[in-house]
Amino acid sequence: MNKANNTRADEMSTRILVSPNSKNPKTGDIPQIMIGGSKAEGLASCKGCPMLSKKMGGKGEKTKCYHWGGSSQMGHIAMAKANDKDPDKLREDLSYQLSSPKVSRQAQYVRLAVGGDPSALGRERVEEITETVKAHNFKGALGYTHFYQGKGSDLKGLVMASVESLEDADRAVDGGWRAAVVLDAVHPDLTVSRAKRFEGAPLWTGQDFTTPKGRRVTVCPSQTGATVKDARGNQRPIDCNTCGMCDATQNKGGDIIGFLKH
Ligand code: SF4
Repeated sequence: MNKANNTRADEMSTRILVSPNSKNPKTGDIPQIMIGGSKAEGLASCKGCPMLSKKMGGKGEKTKCYHWGGSSQMGHIAMAKANDKDPDKLREDLSYQLSSPKVSRQAQYVRLAVGGDPSALGRERVEEITETVKAHNFKGALGYTHFYQGKGSDLKGLVMASVESLEDADRAVDGGWRAAVVLDAVHPDLTVSRAKRFEGAPLWTGQDFTTPKGRRVTVCPSQTGATVKDARGNQRPIDCNTCGMCDATQNKGGDIIGFLKH
């Protein structure tokens, strides 16, 4: 797959849906952007992804994607349906949604592509999104593409390259990307039922990770139980909003961020 798979017309016609807030404790209460104004459009943005089953348009045997294989797709689909029914709510208008009184005053970042892959938008639109986010006084956008070597190759410097192995993380960083990699270690707080999915993988007990080329991996602090002081001086768990290491335009946290299986 290469960049030619995205035509300019595709990039302009792929819709986004914006929610001004979120109940996701991992990201914190920040605005969220979904790629795709319908389930089909969202899935089309992910076409060819190794995390998606062949049946769903991907390259994998099973769907391992947290969005399309989990419950977060329900929010995406519900939002798409609501948007079709009631377009006056301007869910496709990023600037409008970021100006909403529903946006938390504490929100510092915007989550780009909770579902769907931003490669479907192309560089120009992702740059526009980043500029709009900054114009609304956010620090930046947090986003990932599974297609850093293919149809998302023009998003270098704007989003993280989402990769499946430490070897691939080296490859991405050698190519000038910051990378987000799933580590071969299971989050210790995983429920027994979910842990079954990762049978055989070791439990994370605080071990560090280094790539074959010797690059250090920073484990996502929201998974390690790290805390941060809030405005009242109380310690509270770090979330994406207080962390921001996955803002690919910055280098907070180094070249590679690692995620425990969860
Ligand atoms: S490293 Fe930070 S920004 Fe990235 S996923 Fe973890 S908490 Fe969120």
